[in-house]
Amino acid sequence: MVTAHDEDDDEDEEERDADDEEQRRAENTTSRLHTAFDSRARYADIGERIDDFEDIDEWVATSGSLDAETGTTYEGSQSARLASTTDDGGNIEIRREFDDLDLSGRTLSVAIRLESPDVEQLDAIVEDESGDEVVMGRRTIESDYGWFILDLGVTEENGDPDLENVAEIRIQLNQDNGRPISLLLDDLRATERGDGGYVLLTFDDTPESQYEKAFPVMRRYGFPGFAAINPDRVGDEESLSLAQLEDLQDAGWEIGSHTMDHRNLPELETSEAREQVATAKEWLLDNGFETGADSFVYPWSSSDPLTRDVVSDYHYLAFTDGSNTHGQQLRGPLTVGRIFAEERERVADALSLAAKYDQVVVLAYHEIGAGKWIDEAGFRDQMQLIAATEDLEVVTPSALLEDVLTPPLL
Ligand SMILES: [Zn+2]
Repeated sequence: MVTAHDEDDDEDEEERDADDEEQRRAENTTSRLHTAFDSRARYADIGERIDDFEDIDEWVATSGSLDAETGTTYEGSQSARLASTTDDGGNIEIRREFDDLDLSGRTLSVAIRLESPDVEQLDAIVEDESGDEVVMGRRTIESDYGWFILDLGVTEENGDPDLENVAEIRIQLNQDNGRPISLLLDDLRATERGDGGYVLLTFDDTPESQYEKAFPVMRRYGFPGFAAINPDRVGDEESLSLAQLEDLQDAGWEIGSHTMDHRNLPELETSEAREQVATAKEWLLDNGFETGADSFVYPWSSSDPLTRDVVSDYHYLAFTDGSNTHGQQLRGPLTVGRIFAEERERVADALSLAAKYDQVVVLAYHEIGAGKWIDEAGFRDQMQLIAATEDLEVVTPSALLEDVLTPPLL
């Protein structure tokens, strides 16, 4: 009996040891995979608040309607509800006058929640006393995004704007098909621009042409890139191999996540989305890509509040679309806009405005070659354009997090 009892005890103990070991391993894996904090919280309150929309009487709607919204806010007790009708052609414009606003060396950023339908373009037009203006915009905003931060960037200038003396800000929302829009705005801020413009060159989906065609051109200029990869595809035919990814990293590139196998995250159960994000991060860490593993690109540029919460558990920086430059100081590091670099003219404009207004421009590439997103000559031309633009530096995501953001994120 005693012996049997002892044996039971031993078995219990062995089981407990095994349980402890399993838990220790789980905790180790968790702390290894997980971010130490939510990067969005770090920068949500930076810069100077221009308007919290607690008193919307400061604003006048010149197209569409403007009302106070107390049920749903990004911060405080009230946000601004903007809506248009088919009579407005679906367009919205609100304006506010200022008599003591200095936006020189600063960029606007606003919290937005779109209710319906998607919006092609949001522009904040900043006008000085003589009517000259800069336009700070962002394209392609989807209604399933929930509240998120739009870090705006200069997309256009008219005349020779004196941003030390801003007379008026107009916020316009447009969409192509004239359907009425409904959305909320909150917490408009101005963030510091810093000095000099920055370019990030990002590459999705691991096609081999990125190694065969883009890499040699970039190496000649000394430009590093960022490859957002799907570990499930690594080593497939016509896809980058592990050895090629290692070559890229050795040449200064960073290798980050684009989920395990390129699933559309908002369409998945939360546990499945987490699995996609967590296993890809684990693969990156296991294969020596620790630095790039801090950064993520949403497949199909698709996210919603739940999937962004999942991504925030594993990554500090995440890219979506948005087709514009933005300020150097990110309030929304998990919704960073990229420009799909197909059209030379758009890229050229973005580069020169980034240099002039100390902005960050994130260019996105997929396949490079004849009949693809961009052909080889077009790619070479864009790299040449970057090299020829003064006051522009090509950086990696980790350099953005550690050297550009103030204070550094990591
Ligand atoms: Zn992709």
